[in-house]
Amino acid sequence: MTETWRNWSGLETASPARVESPADTAAVVAAVERARQEGSTVKMVGTGHSFTAISAPEGTMLRPTNLGGILAVDRDAMTVTALAGTQLKVLNAQLEALGLSLHNMGDIAEQTLAGATSTGTHGTGGVVASLSAQICGLEIVTGTGEVVTATETENPELLEHGRVGLGALGVLTRLTFRVEPLFALEANETPMSWDEALGGFDERAAAHHHVDTYWFPHTDRLMVKTNDRLDDLDVEPLSRWRAWWDDEFLSNAAFGALNHLTNAAPSIIPRFNQLSSRLLSARSYSDVAHRVFTSPRDVVFREMEYAVPREAGLAALREARAAIDASDLKVTFPVEIRTTPADDIPMSTSGGRDSFYLAFHTHRDADHREYFALLEPIMRAHDGRPHWGKVHTRTAADLAPAYPRFDEFLALRDKLDPDRVFANDYLRRVLGD
Ligand SMILES: Cc1cc2nc3c(=O)[nH]c(=O)nc-3n(C[C@H](O)[C@H](O)[C@H](O)COP(=O)(O)OP(=O)(O)OC[C@H]3O[C@@H](n4cnc5c(N)ncnc54)[C@H](O)[C@@H]3O)c2cc1C
Repeated sequence: MTETWRNWSGLETASPARVESPADTAAVVAAVERARQEGSTVKMVGTGHSFTAISAPEGTMLRPTNLGGILAVDRDAMTVTALAGTQLKVLNAQLEALGLSLHNMGDIAEQTLAGATSTGTHGTGGVVASLSAQICGLEIVTGTGEVVTATETENPELLEHGRVGLGALGVLTRLTFRVEPLFALEANETPMSWDEALGGFDERAAAHHHVDTYWFPHTDRLMVKTNDRLDDLDVEPLSRWRAWWDDEFLSNAAFGALNHLTNAAPSIIPRFNQLSSRLLSARSYSDVAHRVFTSPRDVVFREMEYAVPREAGLAALREARAAIDASDLKVTFPVEIRTTPADDIPMSTSGGRDSFYLAFHTHRDADHREYFALLEPIMRAHDGRPHWGKVHTRTAADLAPAYPRFDEFLALRDKLDPDRVFANDYLRRVLGD
């Protein structure tokens, strides 16, 4: 039976010829071998949280639903091996029960492990920012139906590339992550003016473990969130009421209702942003790390995010603000600003350079195209690399110069998937045929 695949933002849909839910590696191998013989394609999807069509299936769609759960915990090596279709929120809960934690993560936990890491999903700050950079082992089914494992000593080239593989190298079936003892974070949120936030940006990023900054377009106001590690697990979370009010009601229900209003009357957005940004208030709390890093996101939006070299970040942000101010565009969603240390993954947006991320959002029912088209040239002019899972217009020809090891990745793809069993339109655009 077939079904329509749709991503979370509703921007992309696909009608795969066949849908399967493999329960083990052998079932994945069988799907790949059959597709290869038929000259067709296979795509393992995650939870569809990419805004791009990177996971859009054409031939057979493989659902990750039967490939979840922790397989092994090695407390000497401090690693955890899990099935690749495990949702991040499930892993986080199971790790917490084991007294363990990932080092860092992005701001939601809905994605599958393979889905999140295949596009380089990242958080901010820390020693390693992306989930991919925390991977130290993997098992993958290649386009020729071979099952290959990779670690730092066995097939190290595959481990290097497979951590951000864009779904182009094979179907990941198992992933091993480096973990740490469970830790807690103290979160402090402080409203600031533009000059205060940008003037102290570098010092703040150096002084705190994680810094996440939000600028409210059409205003001079930002919200600065800092997260710092505590020495123990003695935490003071927000009360249930405050958490519901801030994270469920204000950030989701009320913000969603507001967007319906402003979509109908965009001219009120600047005045509204002025008012709401003046109402921002400071708050502090502490909790186990994954509950501080992530929060529910119920208001459906579209997003473009670029990583520019760290040293170019503030200039790119200032230019983005000038372009928005000079345009007629009215934007409700804040611009999110994060930083990451360089990692060693060839196709990672942070590969080989400390990075500064700028993320632009619009509500699902607002037209994102003009907004993103205004800002993408600024990001490109600063040698920006687009998030593989977020809206962008780049192609293989202009992405290749942005990634020094792009050709190496293409050569590995040729070796692992010579018949392009894992191809789709998005991969043809960003990697070539
Ligand atoms: C509300 C929201 C918040 C977000 N927050 C962040 C954030 O803080 N930081 C950030 O960097 N990104 C963020 N993202 C982007 C998101 O993390 C990425 O797009 C991520 O790739 C989505 O994971 P997924 O499980 O939905 O995978 P999908 O989007 O379904 O798939 C992504 C890719 O993974 C591949 N894939 C899935 N499973 C396998 C497998 N088993 N083997 C091989 N390939 C596989 C797919 O084929 C596809 O190529 C956010 C997105 C949303 C909607």
